[in-house]
Amino acid sequence: METKKLCCADVLVVGGGLAAMYAAVHAAKAGQKVVLLSKKKAGLSGASLVSMSVHRFAPHAQTHRDEYIRNFMASGKGINDPGLLRKLVMEGARQVEALREYGLPLHFKTMDFKGEPEAYLACCAPKSGRLLTCPMRHYIETKTGVAIMDGYMAVDLTLQDGQVKGLIAEKDQLLYAIEAKAVVLATGGAGYIYESTSNTSDLTGDGYAMAVRAGLELRDMEFVQFYPYRVYTPVQFDIFPDIFAYGARFLNEKGERFMEAYPKKEQENRDVLARCMFRQAEVALDLSGCDPVYLEKECPNIFEACHKFRGRRFLARPVAHFMMGGIPLKADCATGIRGLYCCGEVSGGLHGANRMAGSALTETSVFGPAAGIRAAEFAAGCKAVGAARDTFDYDVPEPGREDVTEVRQALRKMMWSSVSLMRTESALGEACREIERLEQRLLQTRPADLRRWFECRNMLVTAKCVADSAMLRNESRGAHAREDYPAEDPAWTGSIYSNGKSLRFVREEDR
Ligand SMILES: Cc1cc2nc3c(=O)[nH]c(=O)nc-3n(C[C@H](O)[C@H](O)[C@H](O)COP(=O)(O)OP(=O)(O)OC[C@H]3O[C@@H](n4cnc5c(N)ncnc54)[C@H](O)[C@@H]3O)c2cc1C
Repeated sequence: METKKLCCADVLVVGGGLAAMYAAVHAAKAGQKVVLLSKKKAGLSGASLVSMSVHRFAPHAQTHRDEYIRNFMASGKGINDPGLLRKLVMEGARQVEALREYGLPLHFKTMDFKGEPEAYLACCAPKSGRLLTCPMRHYIETKTGVAIMDGYMAVDLTLQDGQVKGLIAEKDQLLYAIEAKAVVLATGGAGYIYESTSNTSDLTGDGYAMAVRAGLELRDMEFVQFYPYRVYTPVQFDIFPDIFAYGARFLNEKGERFMEAYPKKEQENRDVLARCMFRQAEVALDLSGCDPVYLEKECPNIFEACHKFRGRRFLARPVAHFMMGGIPLKADCATGIRGLYCCGEVSGGLHGANRMAGSALTETSVFGPAAGIRAAEFAAGCKAVGAARDTFDYDVPEPGREDVTEVRQALRKMMWSSVSLMRTESALGEACREIERLEQRLLQTRPADLRRWFECRNMLVTAKCVADSAMLRNESRGAHAREDYPAEDPAWTGSIYSNGKSLRFVREEDR
């Protein structure tokens, strides 16, 4: 399909969440011409928008930082990249505090565990990511020269001699080529590959799939966090785990508090809690003993729901929530392709086998700026982007009238049943074969909607990396649980790298 050249940028940032917006602001501050390209409206899409706005970060005191690092590593089951964690710890507090500059309404407090301030916390009141993303967009529009391109989906990166040259984007079924000296990928995660998810429908793994097609490997893709704190009926809402410190409980169908035996009860690591929930026939959120003052002040949506649905039971279930894996992150956010940087959930390596609550937004505030600054530095050292060609060719399927919804739904259903909380070799093997069958089906379709087709292709690539990596890891660790290998095995202390075709395992000591 003929692809028209649309524009040139020094730094092209892909994504409309917080990681992308921070990267764009910092690249612009460095004096570069920046374009922010987002599939849906920047600031009104992605996980940042629907997040609970909670940033947890290490305090300044060294002893408390050590404690924070120990907790972080314990949560990631020892396979977090220590260099990345060091950066998060050293810069987290300063970078979250710096967000005030953009007018973000964050309230800061200390979290006190056993009398020790283990971490600091900043969040909005009420806890809504929208209170961060909307002012951030406003800041970009009014205080920076960043050009925002809403509604453009990045389809594939363009490369020349191992260096990124821009990308192909789609809007309204037409393709465009956008040239750039440097590109920052901040396309978020891929929760939408699962039938049950807390993610928005734009999170279809596009960044992972583009990276793989450009020849990069992804790491830790088997580690998908399932969030145990979602109520799905009679109304849908997320619960911030603090609520359990104020008297809330999870009860099973027999009225038992099934987390009673665990030291942190419902505040156990998310993977442990999610699996325990998965084993119950039904899980109800019991708020009968919850402090009403806390509820009204901190969780007004739940408070309102209690009144509106008085006498009804709030049922909860785990949902696919966060991808620990992704494009291998480095402290300077560079990737294996010159000029290509990544930040936010599309990257992998910081969180290891499981993510600690409140650390993803802190991650965006640390690595978003780093990606923007490094991309700007790279762009400053490049020659002008050439206007060598006005049109490009990009292979797309023959247009037709077919809908890809069936393929997409079949994939999401299968990922939930076979590649979610409890995994086995036979189910994973069948999942890998089903993904291949669905890929064949997709290749044969004549789509009515090109964007849906591109998204579906990306979901299949991402799902394949998750299922393949899960199949190789013959142990249970963090968010990855194998029924046939229920124990953690020290032989698997390391990361699996996948390029969508082959896999390799790198031991921690060989990294
Ligand atoms: C319900 C929920 C609550 C959460 N609460 C918290 C919390 O309180 N604290 C915390 O630390 N973490 C939380 N998280 C996790 C955290 O919100 C995310 O990890 C983080 O916001 C990711 O930011 P991001 O900018 O990398 O990606 P996102 O915010 O997901 O943004 C990705 C952006 O990229 C765009 N995009 C995707 N593909 C393309 C493409 N091909 N072309 C162009 N644009 C594209 C999307 O439309 C979107 O705008 C929560 C997550 C969820 C789902």
